[in-house]
Amino acid sequence: MGRVAYVNGRYVPHGQANVHIEDRGYQFADGVYEVVPVIDGVLIDEELHLDRLGYSLGELRIAWPVARPVLRLILREMLARNHLGRGIIYFQVTRGVAPRDHKFPARTKSSLVVTTKRLAPPAPALLENGVAVASQPDIRWQRCDIKSLSLLPNILAKQAAHESGAFEAWLVDANGVVTEGSSTNAWIVTRSGEIVTHPTGRGILGGVTRRSLVQLAEASGLALVERGFTLVEAQAAAEAFLTSSSAFVLPVTRIDGQPVGDGRPGPVTRRLREIYLANVAAQIGAAP
Ligand code: PMP
Repeated sequence: MGRVAYVNGRYVPHGQANVHIEDRGYQFADGVYEVVPVIDGVLIDEELHLDRLGYSLGELRIAWPVARPVLRLILREMLARNHLGRGIIYFQVTRGVAPRDHKFPARTKSSLVVTTKRLAPPAPALLENGVAVASQPDIRWQRCDIKSLSLLPNILAKQAAHESGAFEAWLVDANGVVTEGSSTNAWIVTRSGEIVTHPTGRGILGGVTRRSLVQLAEASGLALVERGFTLVEAQAAAEAFLTSSSAFVLPVTRIDGQPVGDGRPGPVTRRLREIYLANVAAQIGAAP
């Protein structure tokens, strides 16, 4: 059997999976999602992703569609049915199906959709050369900490970056501070060797990769500070990189066409990627 999707209690062929036209996710983007990396069939940092799902649901007062242990079982069943070794598993929860009305419906069951996607490791050239980012104004709302389905500003920023030949957009707020990428967190390494990333809060999505890397860097005794940095500071930094569940740690070597440092991926970024991958390998080794 080919690719399988999960939709509200049923495993169905991916091409035939569908939801009701009055699902509030479809009409209002009234829902949240998660993307969990899968390597060697193991869900990496699964509990951190489920914690964040619970946070996003709680902030929007959307009920869990199934209990957390049941969701874990569904995710595993999806990996098995799709024979997924390496890739990502995507799941989204919406407030459910109800006649269109902005107010929360009185009695509606949350909808759950799960899909998987095969993904090859990043091309060696990306790691060897690093990627380019292009700045874009951060025009998003003031609850970027919620992993909402509503991604229009992110999509527009990514598209603009793509059209300028860049891999990612770095979003810049009204104070000139880089908040994060359109689908990644943004980091620099200063010339004095300090690793810097924007603090969590309502202005950015608290990335799971970001969170793990902060802990791993601190445990390795590396100097790290969570503070805002400007685009100018980033362009003058020794190194820059981005993090996400699909890219892990990826060097950034150009910002708006300007080389960062010597224009090559730097040693701190390489070290952090190795530390992160060792943590992934440990999770795979510990999997039942
Ligand atoms: N920021 C934004 C806006 C994102 O969409 C993502 C990816 N979900 C991230 C950061 C990175 O988060 P994570 O490490 O959990 O994938």
